[in-house]
Amino acid sequence: MNIAWATDDNGVLQLTLNDSPLKPRDTEKALRCAIRNYYKRRRLAKPDQGKVYHGTSVATAPNHFMRAGDFTRFADWRFVHRARLECVPLNGTKRFGNGDKRCRRCGHANETLSHVLNHCGHHNVTLTRRHNAILDRLANAIRPSPGAVKRVNQTVPGFTDGLRSDLVVINEGAKRVTIVDVTMTFENQYETFEEARREKRTKYDHMKRQFEEEGFEVFLEGFAVGPLGGWDPANEHTMNRLGISCKYSGLMRKLMCSDAIKWSRDIYVEHVTGVRQYKVPGPDAEET
Ligand SMILES: [Zn+2]
Repeated sequence: MNIAWATDDNGVLQLTLNDSPLKPRDTEKALRCAIRNYYKRRRLAKPDQGKVYHGTSVATAPNHFMRAGDFTRFADWRFVHRARLECVPLNGTKRFGNGDKRCRRCGHANETLSHVLNHCGHHNVTLTRRHNAILDRLANAIRPSPGAVKRVNQTVPGFTDGLRSDLVVINEGAKRVTIVDVTMTFENQYETFEEARREKRTKYDHMKRQFEEEGFEVFLEGFAVGPLGGWDPANEHTMNRLGISCKYSGLMRKLMCSDAIKWSRDIYVEHVTGVRQYKVPGPDAEET
């Protein structure tokens, strides 16, 4: 940004912005826009920041809480903005010095946010709870048509591979099968969602082919929600297939994005402080 005073041919002082003279009535607006663009360019030029925003800006649900804070705790609010900008303090995100970048919990070589929220073995129990929170919302929203059987996190009859797909709806009468597996890949660019869904289709392809050989019409897809509230627009197609009403799907999207942020915040804080952020009622309580 080049803001300067110059003298015109008549000796009158003239304010210029990037060598263009400003008219008095446009000055305030022009300066405001120039400053906004300056900071935007600076942010876009940073190597990490922006990747998550690329993944969370392809739909409106990931940002539904921005105006009113719906379904969002204050703790989540404080966490999510810094997390999406990769600005939370972790060993792997230090910009200066030669400090230890290893994970403080599992010893992995690089303690980044994606490691903490998706791969750190220390948090396996909570990662499963986060995944199941999304799966439960999806499974509870389905009202199978008469004759259809819904199986959640169970092996599929006729298969001995032991794979427990997240959600399978089998309608023997209509010869229709729907196989959906929830994936919570870290939303670094939108392409990570596409890649995650492709992996799910590959993983269950043998099931699809066997059902098709038995005469079923098969729908197989991954259902992608990011740990920082990212939402894959391709999920809409899956929700249509599962018969989830338009009215509820709007609310469900928001709840799922907020669930993901809530659990990820709890994982991050537990990672840094060593204190579990949720209580488990009943016999599981000893896990804490
Ligand atoms: Zn770790």
